[in-house]
Amino acid sequence: HGVEEEPIYCRSRIEAEAWLSAFIDAEQTAGRRALIGFDFPFGYPKGFVRHVTGSDDPFAFWAWLEARITDNADGENNRFEVAEALNGLFDGPGPFWGKPDRDCWPGIPYRKAGISYEFVSERREADLVAKAASSCFQLFYNPTVGSQVLMGLPMLERLRRLKGVSVWPFEDVADANVVFAEIWPGVIEPAVKAVTTDAIRDRVQVRLMARALAALPVCDLAGLLADVGNAAKEEAWILGAGHRDKLVAAARLTPPPLRDDCFALPAGVEWTPVDDALALLRDRMTPVVGIETVPLMQAVGRVLAVDVVAKRSNPPHANTAVDGYGFAGASVGEGALVLPLVEGRAAAGVPFDGVVPEGQAIRVLTGADLPNGVDTVVLDEDTRVGDGHVAFHGPLKVGANTRKAGEDVVSGAVALAAGRVLTPADLALSAAIGHGLLDVRARLRVAVLSTGDEIVDPGAAVNAGQIFDANRPMLLSLCEQFGYAAVDMGRAPDRRDALAARLDEAAAAADVILTSGGASAGDEDHLSALLRETGAMQEWRIALKPGRPLALGLWKGKPVFGLPGNPVAALVCTLVFARPAMQVMAGAGWSDPQGFDVPAAFEKRKKPGRREYLRARMRNGQAEVFKSEGSGRISGLSWAEGLVELPDGAVHVKPGDPVRYIPYASFGYSGG
Ligand code: AMP
Ligand code: MG
Repeated sequence: HGVEEEPIYCRSRIEAEAWLSAFIDAEQTAGRRALIGFDFPFGYPKGFVRHVTGSDDPFAFWAWLEARITDNADGENNRFEVAEALNGLFDGPGPFWGKPDRDCWPGIPYRKAGISYEFVSERREADLVAKAASSCFQLFYNPTVGSQVLMGLPMLERLRRLKGVSVWPFEDVADANVVFAEIWPGVIEPAVKAVTTDAIRDRVQVRLMARALAALPVCDLAGLLADVGNAAKEEAWILGAGHRDKLVAAARLTPPPLRDDCFALPAGVEWTPVDDALALLRDRMTPVVGIETVPLMQAVGRVLAVDVVAKRSNPPHANTAVDGYGFAGASVGEGALVLPLVEGRAAAGVPFDGVVPEGQAIRVLTGADLPNGVDTVVLDEDTRVGDGHVAFHGPLKVGANTRKAGEDVVSGAVALAAGRVLTPADLALSAAIGHGLLDVRARLRVAVLSTGDEIVDPGAAVNAGQIFDANRPMLLSLCEQFGYAAVDMGRAPDRRDALAARLDEAAAAADVILTSGGASAGDEDHLSALLRETGAMQEWRIALKPGRPLALGLWKGKPVFGLPGNPVAALVCTLVFARPAMQVMAGAGWSDPQGFDVPAAFEKRKKPGRREYLRARMRNGQAEVFKSEGSGRISGLSWAEGLVELPDGAVHVKPGDPVRYIPYASFGYSGG
C-alpha cells in the first residue's frame, strides 16, 4: 500500500516474466508486500474449466494451458492451435472465435455469428458488473482480450508457484506477501480520458491504475478485495468492478503537499522587505490541486491545466471577408473589367462545390469558403451586375477581401498555455479550434475562519464590547472572485482547544486556510501560539503598512495564512501576499499585479523602512487616496477601487508626482 511503481516497458512476455520474478523476489527480501494487477481475465465463465479439465479448480485450467502453450521472445506462439483444440471439446461452433486469416484454423469461426453460448456463457459475472468491453472467447479484432488470457495464464501459472504468491480471488490473500489480481483499466476510463499529455494509452492506463490502488486507504482496498460476486471462486473477478467512482477519484492526479519548511524565513532578519517575502513565496509554493475535465461552457474562470492545442485551424478554410464576387486574382487585368458570372453562389456553411474557371467570377457571401478557382474577392459596393456579368475596376491585389486558412491559428499550434485563468474570449478561441472539453485544475478550496471572542455574526444580536464579523464576508466573497471554492468555517473563540478543533475541520475541508485575528504575539493571539506549538508556524514580520505580523504555517499539512484582524490590513495582506501564493497553489503560476504610474492627487510624506499601501481610486486621470489611513476604517476599503503603492524608502509625494496605482482588478478583485 501507498507506493506506485513507475511504468516500465517489456518487449515480450518472456522479458516481463523474468522482470516480475525478480521483482517478487526483491520485494519480499525487502520485507514489503506487493499487489500486482494483470489486465486480462484470470478465469472463464462458469462450467468452462470443468468441461475442459473435469475439475472445478480454476488452476486446473491454468496448468492445462501451461502444458500446451508455446511462446518465444519474438511473440511467436501456438495460441490459435490451442484455441482450436479447445473448440473441439465443445459441440457446435465456438466458443472461441476471431482470427487474422479467414482460411487458417478451420475449427475457429472467423466471426461470432452462429455461436450459441448455450453450454458456456459468453461473459463472466464480473464482465457484466464491470461492463467489460470484450469476452475472453474473442481472440481477435479490437477490443480483444481472449488471446491475452491464453498467453497470460501459462505465465501466471509459473509465477504463482513462487514463494509468497497468492492469486485473488481463488486463494485467501489476507496474509499473502504478494497478491496477483485481475484488473481492467476500463474501470477508471474517465480518469484515463482526462489525461491528454501522454499519447500512449496503455501507459496512462497502467500508471493511473497503479496510482489509484496505491492511493486507496488500506480499508478501502480491503473492501474492494472482499467485494466479489458469487461465481468469483470459479470465474475470477475484476478488482474494483462496481467501484468506478472510488477508483476514478483515487486515480486523479493530485500533486504532493507543500513542504513542511515552506514558510521558513532566513534567520536573524528583523523585518523582511515585501519583495523578499514575495520572492520566498514564489519559490516555495507549488500547485496542490489535481486536474479534471470540464465542458467548455463551464470553464470560465477556471485554471487551464494543460496547453490548449488547436485541433483545427482558424479559419479552417480560406473564406471571404465580405459580400461580393470571387475570381482568380492573377487571371484578370487592370482597368475596367467585365467577368462572366458562374451559375450558383457560395455562402457561409453552403460551399460551392464546382470550379470557377479563370476569367470568370461567382457570387460569394461573407464567411463562405472560397470556391475552387477563387482567391480574390471584389466588394459588392465596387461592382455593377447585369446580364450574367459583373463589372468593376481593376487591379485588385491577389487575395483581397479574403481570409487565409489558419491566418489566425494554425492546426497544431498552442493557442492557450497551461496556467491561464480562462476568460470568455479564451472559450471562444478554444471552441473555434475544435475543443468541447478542457482540462482544468480542480478549484482551490479555501477555508475562511474568523477568530476572537468579540466577533459576532453579521446581523446577530450584539452586547457591549462585541463587534460584527466584517472579515469573513469580505474574505469569502473575495475567494469566490478569485475563482476558488470558499468554505465558510465560521468563527472560533479565543480558546486554544476550540481553535485547534476548528483548524482540524478546515484542514479536512480545504486546501488552504485563511484566518483573521489572533495572529500577533499577544496574550490573546491564540492562532500564532497554536501554530508555534505544532512547530509549523512562522511569524512573518513584513515591512509593510498596513499589516502587523502575518502568521504563516502548516496545519495538518495545509497552509494557513494567519491574517491580521483589522479589516484593512486583512484585505491588503490577502491581496499582496495570500493571493499570489494561492494562485500558484491553484495551478495558475506566479504573477505580479499590473500597476500603473499615474499623477498623484494628494500630498504625503513617508518615512523609510516599510512599504505602504494606501486605499486609492482614479478620478480625472489622477490617483486620490482615502482621507484617513486608520486601519480600522472599513469605509475607506469600500470607497477605494485600488491601492497606491509607496516604495520602501522615504518619499515626499506632491500633487502631480507620479505614483504607482494598482487597480483592484489587477488582483483579480472585481468592482471599482
Ligand atoms: P487581533 O488581530 O485579533 O488582535 O484583532 C485586531 C483588531 O481587528 C481588533 O480590533 C479586532 O476586534 C479586529 N477584528 C478581528 N477580527 C475581526 C473581524 N472578523 N471583523 C472585524 N474586525 C475584526
Ligand atoms: Mg483577536
